[in-house]
Amino acid sequence: MIQEIAPHVYHNAFHERKSIPTDLVTIFFKGKTYLTETGLFPTVAQVKALGVGEEDLVYLFEIDDVAFFLLWTVNDTVKEALVESPTMVFRNMEPSHLALAGATALHLSGWYRANRFCGCCGTPMERDKVERAMRCPKCNNIVYPRINPAILAAVRHNGKILLTHYANRANASRYALVAGFAEIGETLEDTVRREVMEEVGLPIKNIRYHASQPWGFAGNIMVGFWADLDSEDETVTLDQTELDEGVWLSREEIPVEVNTPSLTHTMIQLFRQGKDPQ
Ligand SMILES: [Zn+2]
Repeated sequence: MIQEIAPHVYHNAFHERKSIPTDLVTIFFKGKTYLTETGLFPTVAQVKALGVGEEDLVYLFEIDDVAFFLLWTVNDTVKEALVESPTMVFRNMEPSHLALAGATALHLSGWYRANRFCGCCGTPMERDKVERAMRCPKCNNIVYPRINPAILAAVRHNGKILLTHYANRANASRYALVAGFAEIGETLEDTVRREVMEEVGLPIKNIRYHASQPWGFAGNIMVGFWADLDSEDETVTLDQTELDEGVWLSREEIPVEVNTPSLTHTMIQLFRQGKDPQ
């Protein structure tokens, strides 16, 4: 999964840190990222050579002893000197700890961008100095990083797993698990029950936590659960606004797909290999 970067170590304790020339810079502008010609993050030395000042570098996190910064203001000189790329390049970036760095920087960048002004009074927000937060100097509104909790449900019955396929998503991988966002006022187990009923019309039981995964591409934390069908009737009633397919597949029927860093892929492949908990 994307967060599995050993022997590298991700450090996200917030502190003010000045850059050193070999630190790395993440750059986002209108849904694109900007990388070097070799497809890597530019160094602080490289962006400073383009006229970027220290005050324009916002500390994000470290991996091992390399700090990653966000370029706060992206000017044309920087864009023209680097290669514009879709942010999905992070999904398969090598070495793989850079995929986690890119997705996490993308998530933080989107949060900073969405909170430049106070949602209560409209005043420009300021970055807090002691914690990862944006603070309004006028009304003291404080905004912490927004992370959307979303569940994945791997539902099983009689040696089969329920797989779905999203409608209208060109790049959707072939099969997915039932998934959805937690609503205000419910537990994650409630979310699992509700989403399975809404998307495929089936009752479930034995809901058990499997693992979680940060998924910065969508600003989410994905929380995976195993569950069993609570009925002998496997008939799927699809929510056709979201899905165009919902099928029960045995281990042998599941296609072996190209490895991806997602929790969905990991859980489906665990089932295929007979390694899911009973
Ligand atoms: Zn305010």
